[in-house]
Amino acid sequence: MKRIRLKDELKNKNTKIQGLLTVGREDVLLPVTVICGKEEGKTVLVTGGIHNAEYVGIQAAITLAEALVPAEITGRIVILPLVNTTGFEHRTMSLVYEDGKNLNREFPGNPDGTLAQQICYFIEKEVFSEIDYYIDLHCGDGFEALAPYVYCQGKASEEVCRMSEQMARQVQVPYIVQSQSGTGGAYNYAGALGIPGILLERGNMACWSPEEVEADVQDVKRILRLLEVLPEAQEASETVKKNTSPKVLITEAIYQGAEKAGCWYPRFKPGQTAEKGEILGEIRDYFGQVLEVHRASETCVILYQIGSLTVQKQETVIAYGKICEEQLELLTKAQEEDR
Ligand SMILES: [Zn+2]
Repeated sequence: MKRIRLKDELKNKNTKIQGLLTVGREDVLLPVTVICGKEEGKTVLVTGGIHNAEYVGIQAAITLAEALVPAEITGRIVILPLVNTTGFEHRTMSLVYEDGKNLNREFPGNPDGTLAQQICYFIEKEVFSEIDYYIDLHCGDGFEALAPYVYCQGKASEEVCRMSEQMARQVQVPYIVQSQSGTGGAYNYAGALGIPGILLERGNMACWSPEEVEADVQDVKRILRLLEVLPEAQEASETVKKNTSPKVLITEAIYQGAEKAGCWYPRFKPGQTAEKGEILGEIRDYFGQVLEVHRASETCVILYQIGSLTVQKQETVIAYGKICEEQLELLTKAQEEDR
């Protein structure tokens, strides 16, 4: 596969180019697909594999890169399916192999820093500088159990946040979480630069299925239609699925950290609701002694939690979204209908 420069390829018309981007040091190469339509329009970035064991997003990005063709596109689509390539190849969890860093904690990066910092610097300077919108595909890593949900930006400019929420509403998941982080993670950092974006979470525990990948692909296509990069859906087509799922907007997410390392015993599954004060789970030592009890500080829906038996000191053991009575009723009803 040949080495290419993103800036050069984006000048094309009616082309689909696949190649490798050189990041910082010569030996780190990121696979990229650049699709340029016939007509001028917006430029959209899709990334997968910022966390390298989040396979649903990675495979969805690969599938999109295979499937999308210049003839149907207005503007440009840049797809980076595997941002943490070396982590993927060494099968780490969430961390760049060379330095043990989490890419979503390293923006804006540093050209003279470790590999993760060089990658973040490259993404900001060479990629974010070229795009209008951003779709970041994630999933539960090897230790994360989660309910599908989507983050929109909550701390960028009003206009960026409004657009981000509109993008998030195209995604067929039950929960939209408005991020309260200004620059944490790639999509929030992009938001601070004026780029509307979302982060989609679908899939669990480093597993992936064709069904989850297809759901991601359809969600990305719905967003691309909203942005007028893909044409309006043909109503007659059976492959076009309507965006019908109910959405609960969560404006306050609570991330509860483990004070001690040990074994984690959750009482709920992601997607279930809990009343304020209920026990969500316990951390016990290797003899079964309870070290720590985690309770819901608000009536909430569980978004994600540690899915492995082991829990590390200070990591987020459970994350939940505060919900009001009305939202609780809506979710309880939806869960009953699912049974
Ligand atoms: Zn992730």
